[in-house]
Amino acid sequence: MIFGAHESIAGGVFNAITRGQKATCDAVQIFNKSNNQWRAKKLTTEEVDGFFAAIEKTGVTVACSHTSYLINIGSPDDALQEKSRNSLQEETERCNLLKIPNLVFHPGSHVGSGEEPGMDRIVDNMNQVLDAIPDNTVTLCLETTAGQGSNLGYTFEQIAYIMDRIEDKAHVGVCLDTCHIFAAGYPITDPKDYKKTIKQFDDVIGIKNLKIVHANDSKTELGSKKDRHEHIGEGHIGIDAFSNFVNDKRFKKIPFILETPKDDDLTEDIENLAKLRALGK
Ligand SMILES: [Zn+2]
Ligand SMILES: [Zn+2]
Repeated sequence: MIFGAHESIAGGVFNAITRGQKATCDAVQIFNKSNNQWRAKKLTTEEVDGFFAAIEKTGVTVACSHTSYLINIGSPDDALQEKSRNSLQEETERCNLLKIPNLVFHPGSHVGSGEEPGMDRIVDNMNQVLDAIPDNTVTLCLETTAGQGSNLGYTFEQIAYIMDRIEDKAHVGVCLDTCHIFAAGYPITDPKDYKKTIKQFDDVIGIKNLKIVHANDSKTELGSKKDRHEHIGEGHIGIDAFSNFVNDKRFKKIPFILETPKDDDLTEDIENLAKLRALGK
């Protein structure tokens, strides 16, 4: 199995790799730019080389990048939609440059304009982004969401609706967030419920399209529609759910990435990763 965590790029992208090593990660998720700003400084050759050298030296790989939280390609506001599309394209180009295979993003919010029009805008913008990058090697991964506010992607059917309409099928995939699907109302703790939920995922989306699992427990209950991450085994999902995932042979090659709270010393990541690894039977 591949276990890791989201690690900060503060001080330069290569720092996420050394932090990952310190936190005992096999693989990391990073932001490829500041996540709460539109602007991104161009990556220098020095930075890119330092990043590759850190990967080589530590053996820690980069499973994926996660986009900025500002992006909403489902927005009914033309200016914001265009800004979001340009930003998604820029982030995809940066992942190409850094040889990061997957870019995870939240599908988007319809902001009161209706779910289907929102999803159609997401499809249109993803198609435009993939069309604009000729030698793209990055898979755009739609992340399952908790369904907070007008966020789309809280049912497997919504994710499938978008995927089905992407022209470049080779570069679209899915990131399953355990906290988000649980908050959206999919039970995963009891082994029977887990089997049923994953069968639904396979029937509607297809396990072959799963690229990343975000392993997060949830501070809020099943169906709460709230996105609040908790340490592994300490939330409403509980440790049994993670045992179901970790011992599911179908997920053997899928990176499990933590996005749980932590301090700068990364102790919590080390503890959460140890908990996940100990579940393997
Ligand atoms: Zn996310
Ligand atoms: Zn979340």
